[in-house]
Amino acid sequence: MIKKNLHKLIALGKKLVSSELTIADGGNLSTYDAQTNEITITRSGVCLDELEVDSFVSFKLDDEVPAGASSETAMHLAGYRARPDFLCLLHFHPQHAILLATANIAIKNITVDHTYYLAGKVARLPFIQPGTQQLAAACAEQFTQGFDVLLLAHHGCLLGSDSMEWALYTALNLEQAAKMTKMLGNDIQLPECPSSYLDNLKQSGVV
Ligand SMILES: [Zn+2]
Repeated sequence: MIKKNLHKLIALGKKLVSSELTIADGGNLSTYDAQTNEITITRSGVCLDELEVDSFVSFKLDDEVPAGASSETAMHLAGYRARPDFLCLLHFHPQHAILLATANIAIKNITVDHTYYLAGKVARLPFIQPGTQQLAAACAEQFTQGFDVLLLAHHGCLLGSDSMEWALYTALNLEQAAKMTKMLGNDIQLPECPSSYLDNLKQSGVV
């Protein structure tokens, strides 16, 4: 039986690569089914724009990780344990966001879209060896604090969401905000999108 949401995840992988949010086999994708307590995650070494049903492995959250699962599975497991509200976790290597995270330059929320998807949701982590329990624990800590988008210096981004569409739009806005922050350079002082924008949206019941 094809797991729930798998086709959406396959389409999402294609979009991440076609939108230049990662290249080659940089990253891994997973989805969590709370009803069956099962995680479905990409196999190690698969290219995100060439995913098929066979590119994934599924197992219960508390089972031993099967051979062949992504080398970064620990990070995904820690993410779902910290945030059972997550339907999916996307890990990818977006070049502009990585550059700024590594330089420890904050990504500015310049447009209303950046603010809508990213304001108050992004945390930066220093470099931690990929694939380790140490990285998994550091990610879990940030997710527990309520951050949804984790920037990993010298590495990439780990992003969790209760919606595949929201996850993709957040990834796209993150990289666009990073590009625009870079375009601006250090010399020009630009205010971020007014915080009143989100306050007004909340008052109108949209968010
Ligand atoms: Zn990675």
